[in-house]
Amino acid sequence: MPRAAAPALVFVNGTVILPDRLVRGAFVECVGGRIRRIGRGRPPRSATVVDAGGGHVSPGFVDLHVHGGDGADFMDGTVAAVRTACRAHARHGTTTIFPTTTTGTEARIAAMIAACGAVRREGPAVAGARIAGVHLYGPYFAPDKVGCHPVAGRRDPDPAEYRRHFATGLVRIATCAAELPGAIAFYRAARRHRCLVTCGHSNATWTEMARAFRAGMRHVDHFWCAMSSVASLRQRHGTPMQASMEQFVLAEPGMSTEVIADGCHLSPELLTFAWRQLGARRLCLVTDANRALDQPPGRYRFGCDEDGEWIESDGRVGFVPGGGGALASSVVGLDTMVRTMRAATGAPLAEVVRMASLTPAERAGIARDTGSLAPGKRADVLVLDRRLRVRRVFVGGVEVRG
Ligand SMILES: [Zn+2]
Ligand SMILES: [Zn+2]
Repeated sequence: MPRAAAPALVFVNGTVILPDRLVRGAFVECVGGRIRRIGRGRPPRSATVVDAGGGHVSPGFVDLHVHGGDGADFMDGTVAAVRTACRAHARHGTTTIFPTTTTGTEARIAAMIAACGAVRREGPAVAGARIAGVHLYGPYFAPDKVGCHPVAGRRDPDPAEYRRHFATGLVRIATCAAELPGAIAFYRAARRHRCLVTCGHSNATWTEMARAFRAGMRHVDHFWCAMSSVASLRQRHGTPMQASMEQFVLAEPGMSTEVIADGCHLSPELLTFAWRQLGARRLCLVTDANRALDQPPGRYRFGCDEDGEWIESDGRVGFVPGGGGALASSVVGLDTMVRTMRAATGAPLAEVVRMASLTPAERAGIARDTGSLAPGKRADVLVLDRRLRVRRVFVGGVEVRG
């Protein structure tokens, strides 16, 4: 496929954010849409200069879990909606995106995957975050953990259905609640298709998680949200009390998870706990954003615009109308998550950015191509100001403009 012209670029006058440290006084040179080198001294004269103005040169962010933005939900299932959401998230620093399904009929999910495939084939012409694959998230949720998703669109894993989704070659992340009948066969099939296999919207016990782990499950969706706890398992199984998804993730070094660090879903203490216990290599930042991102406060459909559940946005977070404070995904971008995580935890900036870039790229199996500023990787580069606000965004060396 012909690429849009990616000029030779050199990023100067910014602190360069590497996965393990910050480097001052360096430049990042990109040629043909790829990073050529991170150098010191005089930058090459032949390249177009991008002046970071004393701020930061950061790797582009990678979002594993995101439903939409700027009025569009990926489940709208149209090329226009997918383009709109990819552009919206690029404005917030996301250069690689995994559009995420909600619950819904097989036809709706198939339409969403097809629309994402069409936009992916358009390549750089979309001028937004690049689609690395689809996150098949709904519909295989536990009946008691559906959250704000349409209940009618929930079901147990159906091999005939998910085989058709996997056969598209577009699904790269696959979620299923571990306690559902057929979950293990689903995990094995997802593993064969080289997906990041995850358990979410689940009330699973440690034993069910251990069985899932043996079948290839390695990640849990939005930690502490719509997942089991010791208390929820006591309700399910009585005493003796049982270890939950939370204990399994913390105790098993092969597991990773993600947090919605918008400051509304989780307190600063929980964000700090997650970072301290799991470290930046096992914890990802995700937006889990819905269509209300970059839209005024009001009512929106979560999922497809025809029959998704109504949710409300106050401009800071989504919530269930009349739901007693139940939240319904976020309405902000990964740039906000990075700033909130940094303020909440005091973690080194390199580690905070790693959680929004290299760690999700590693977990999704795309770290050879993107996720950090390293020679040979795609020129997915951000200019952030001193306060970590996004100033300029480059996807494969091509600037994304508002
Ligand atoms: Zn969810
Ligand atoms: Zn979600």
